[in-house]
This record gives sequence, structure tokens and C-alpha cells, in this order.
Amino acid sequence: MPDPHRVLDGLDPEQQRAVLAPRGPVCVLAGAGTGKTRTITRRIAHLIDSGQVNPGQVLAVTFTTRAAGELRARLRSLGIAGPGNSVQAQTFHAAALRQLRYFWPRGLSWELLDHKLPVVARAADHVGLTTTTESLRDLASEIEWAKGSLIGPADYASRAAAEARDTPFPHDVVARVFDGYETAKRNGSHLLLDFDDLIIYAGELLREPAAATDFRSRYRCFVVDEYQDITPVQQLLLDAWLGERDNLTVVGDANQTIYSFAGATARYLLEFTRRYPDATLVRLERDYRSTPEVVSLANQVIGATAERSPGTRLELIGQRPRGPVPRPAEFADDLREASGVAAQVKHLINAGTAPSEVAVLYRVNAQSERFEEALTGAGIPYQVRGSEAFFTRTEIVQAMRKLAATAERDDLPHDVDATRVVRAVLAPLGLSESEPAGPHAKARWESLRALMSVVDELVADEPGITLQRLVTELTLRAEERHTPGQAGVTLASLHAAKGLEWDAVFLVGLTEGSVPITQAVERGDDAIEEERRLFYVGITRAREHLYLSWSLSRSGAGRATRRRTRFLDGIDLDPRRSGRCTVCGAELVNPESRVRGRCASCRIEGRDEGLMSALRTWRADRARRRGVREGAILTDAMLDAIAEQRPADVGSLVA
Ligand code: ATP
Ligand code: MG
Repeated sequence: MPDPHRVLDGLDPEQQRAVLAPRGPVCVLAGAGTGKTRTITRRIAHLIDSGQVNPGQVLAVTFTTRAAGELRARLRSLGIAGPGNSVQAQTFHAAALRQLRYFWPRGLSWELLDHKLPVVARAADHVGLTTTTESLRDLASEIEWAKGSLIGPADYASRAAAEARDTPFPHDVVARVFDGYETAKRNGSHLLLDFDDLIIYAGELLREPAAATDFRSRYRCFVVDEYQDITPVQQLLLDAWLGERDNLTVVGDANQTIYSFAGATARYLLEFTRRYPDATLVRLERDYRSTPEVVSLANQVIGATAERSPGTRLELIGQRPRGPVPRPAEFADDLREASGVAAQVKHLINAGTAPSEVAVLYRVNAQSERFEEALTGAGIPYQVRGSEAFFTRTEIVQAMRKLAATAERDDLPHDVDATRVVRAVLAPLGLSESEPAGPHAKARWESLRALMSVVDELVADEPGITLQRLVTELTLRAEERHTPGQAGVTLASLHAAKGLEWDAVFLVGLTEGSVPITQAVERGDDAIEEERRLFYVGITRAREHLYLSWSLSRSGAGRATRRRTRFLDGIDLDPRRSGRCTVCGAELVNPESRVRGRCASCRIEGRDEGLMSALRTWRADRARRRGVREGAILTDAMLDAIAEQRPADVGSLVA
């Protein structure tokens, strides 16, 4: 039985407006921690409860398997995902893959290309290039950018020149490698599809009217989380899903666009209401995740952007009680930084913070090593998210090979129980029932168990999942380096942390050259702004404790060669000291406000809505007539009356 209260419970009026908006296009434009993901899951629940769609007709998509997992977990807790007729919440890639398996025409066969570097290498070789692993990776990312941006080999050189792409070889040479790569993937009637092809082909298949009709009668409601990360090719697929319909809810934050190097663009988010003039547009400003101190820093960092596109200016208003001021720490070298951070993590854990509520975030994965060593030294359990390490471990590579081979076998009974097959395959590799003795056997056992936990998760999400699909899902995770969750402190790159939250966050290695990264500085202003957004994403992951650290030299180098990131220049980590509002950073002119650390409007924010808007109007009007700042108008007595919701008293004070 649907619970009529679950849909609106714990939502503010603006969130409720998005949830209850009539069927049709809805856009939620809002900053980090304002409850966008919470809002879309409730909207899905509302559409289902009110009988507007069946759960199975909803397709919710996002961009990483981790984010999709988070979405499914929240939907499950609302009782609308899980066994049976349920909402599909997937990554774009997984949704496309499912569609390909269903609609792929007979007579053509295909398989997923899970390692594209060797194919790129052969294409580069053919063109006569001498390459390194780095330049091959750069070539592969360039191909990814082009395909995500709907650019083919023929147009590549001119578009790359127009966008001043920074490539390891001249643009026309890259175009030839791109062309060779595409050709190499076609072999008669057998195709190799890379991850971008999944999206391209899924869109192509829906040009077939029968397939389009079939698909569109099945899915009637679409939801996209983190819409600022969509690439043009994914938008094309979304358009193919929709056809002429407009039952689409999107949520996003243009200030969190951090994948534009791969073709992602906030353009579609910002132009949504132009495309759908009847859309319900909701802006959320209240930040429910972080303390006002963290919010104030986030506002200052993102507010320092020189230019911004219309629609991206969103000031967050912290809703949580006051917390600790973000703590900066400068170290002589990176070894000292790592051990300083480990000591501080230990301190937090001893004081009662769970290790799983702590994250150490860095700019590039290579930075994790020092921190892993320091945490190990301090006896603190940790897991590295998004590292290549997990999926390249010998036992995991072996396991995946054997699983793939088993899935391809013709003699497999059709309705075989996937979990049992996986267990049977993993047992001889070292997945025993009980923990084995010996450090190596134990490590192997641990990682196979972690793999098994991913399998269990997938089966719980989709009971009756076939072995073939299971293997494909695992491949998708390997491609995204989606390390299975284990207990302990999280180590992750800033990119991998998007959408997540922890009680305590350590942003480490905050030096010029890292944040912003050297390549971005070389590329210019747009790239630097993307680095600023990345820093903002990092700051806004913290609920309560935020530590910012950097070191002045590489250990052993002796001399100080580094300097602190420019993004902290001119920023006051303790806004109270400077007589600024701890929430919005506005100058505090009212002495009472100075004592309380918040400007008048931030102090009444989140209280009685009607009263607040009446007061805002009154205050603005009064301030204008007196020719003074708005902040000078409200007295403390009024604020207390508002906070305690005594409208009559406010009325008499105002009069
Ligand atoms: P991001 O941009 O980082 O993805 P988001 O806008 O999706 O953030 P959520 O993750 O949905 O934000 O919410 C942030 C936190 O605030 C979560 O812990 C969520 O449960 C909580 N939250 C959201 N809305 C409310 C509310 N109205 N009251 C209390 N807590 C809320
Ligand atoms: Mg979110």
C-alpha cells in the first residue's frame, strides 16, 4: 500500500512544488546539497502514487554506476524499486545496453569493446605515430570527446581547431587515428562497440518506427539526475526516448559541471525552459547537507567566478546548526601532509566519527598513494574509490574472464540462477566459505568477496538477471572503475566524489598545479573555471568537518617550490572574523547580527514562508524609503518573534 505521507514528508515548499508539478516537463536548478536527488525520487513516487504512471514505465538515468546505485537505494526505501514491476534507475550506458540487447537487428552481431587502448594503438601505428601510454590515453579521450559531442572523423580536425583542443598530435593526424579506430571496430557483420557506441547505436535503433513505438509504449516518464553532465550524444538518445512527448524531469547544478573535457555541457539544463516554455521551473537555495560555515566557503569560492552564464548564480543558504570553521593546514612537504591528515583522521575516529563517514579527496588518483601509506601506518581502514587497482587485481581479472566465458556457453540452462553460477566460478579462484589463513590468500578472498557483494547488489536490483547481463554490468563498473564499497575511510578523486556526502571531508594537495591542475592553467580561463567548480564540488561534500591542506614541496626536494591554490586567495575561512554573515557572506551592518553571525535574512530563512515573504517586502520597501541597507532594518526582537513564529508580535513591532 502506498503511504500517502511518504511523498511530501521532510520536503520544503519549493521541493514540494517540484514533486507535485503536473505531468510534463519539470526542471530543478539548484546548488549542491539542496535536495535535488531527494526531490526527484519523491516526484517519481508521487507520479506513481497518484496513478499517473506505473513503476515499470519510469526510466531514471544518471551518469555513474555509483550515482545510479544511490538513486536505486533511495527508490527502494520508498518501496518503488526492487523485485517485480519497478522503476528503472540506471546509468545512460546501462540503459542503452539493455535497449541494444532487446532491439538489435538479426544478422549483425556485436560485442562490447572493454579495452579500447589496444585498438587505438593499432590505429595510431597504422598512421605511423610513435606513442606512449599517456599519448594513447590522450588520443582515446579525444575520440571520446568527439563522439560525445557528435563529431565524426571527417569533421574532427575543423571542430578541434575551433575549440582549440589540446592534443598530443596535430588535429588532422588525430582525425586519421580516429577514422582508423572506427574502421577497426567493424569487421564484416560483426561490430565491436565502445561505450560511446552504446549510446550512439541505442539512439540509431529508435529511428526504426517499430522499435520506437515499442520502446515508447513501454517507457512513459523520464528523469535525469545531474543533468549538467549530459553530452550532446546522450541528449540525442534522450530525445529519441521521448519522441514527441515531454514527460521529463531534469535536475542539475551548472556550478557542478566537471566533465566538459569529455563533452558534457550545462547548455541543455540552462536552456530547458526555452525548449519547453510550459515547464515547471523550480530553484532550490536551502542547503540541507552542510553547516553554514561550509556553505559560506562554498558560496565564496563559486561566487569569485569572474563571469557566469545566466541561471548559474545560486547562493546557498545553510539550514543546519553552526559547526566548526573549515580548517586550513600548511605542511612543509607531502609526506608530512599525509601523516598530518592521517593523525587528524585518527583524532576524529577516536572522538566518535565512524571511518565510513570520513573522506580524503584529491585531484588525481596518483595522489592517493601517500595517504594510503599514512592511513595504513596509523592503522586506519580505508577504501580507494575509482582506482584502477580493484579491477586490475589478478583474481578479479581471472574471475571476470571466467565469468564472461561461462556466460557465452551454449549449454547453459536458460533460467539458470546467476548467483549460484558466479559462486561456482569464484570458488576455485579462492572464494571459500570461511576466511582462509595467510595474508595472500586472505587478500585474494577479500577481493573476491567484494566482487561477490557487487553481484549480490545487482541481483537484488534485478531479480532473475541473466548471467550475460550480470557480466555486462560488471564490465560497465570496471570501465568506470567503480570499486565496491567496503568499510573504512574513503579515498577518492574529486570527480568520483560528486553527489556523495560525508561528515568529515579532507581536501588534500590544494596547491597550484594540482588545483587547478597544470594542464588546465595551460589551456586557459575556461579550463581553470572547471577546476574551480571541481573545488566547489569537493567543499560541498562535507556535512560538518572540512579540512583543507597543502604542502610547500615534494618530500625530499627540500626547497619550497609550491604555493597554495589560488582558489583560496582572498577567502576568509572564518566569516565571523570579518563581520560577514556566516551563511551568505553579506556584510553585517546590524550589531545584533554581528553577535549572532548571521544577517537578518539568513536568520529568518527556513521559517514561516508567508511571514518571511511579507517581511522581505516590508523590509525592502522600508530600506528603500530610508535609503539604508536592508540588513539595518530588522531588530533582534523581531527576529526572535519570527524564529518563534509569533506573527502577532512581529506585526506590532513592525508597526
Ligand atoms: P548534490 O548536488 O551534491 O547532488 P543534491 O541537491 O542532490 O546534492 P541531496 O543529496 O538530495 O542533494 O540532499 C542533500 C542532503 O540533504 C541529503 O542528506 C538529504 O537527505 C538532505 N535533505 C534534502 N532535502 C531535505 C529537507 N527538506 N529536509 C532535511 N534534509 C533534507
Ligand atoms: Mg544529487
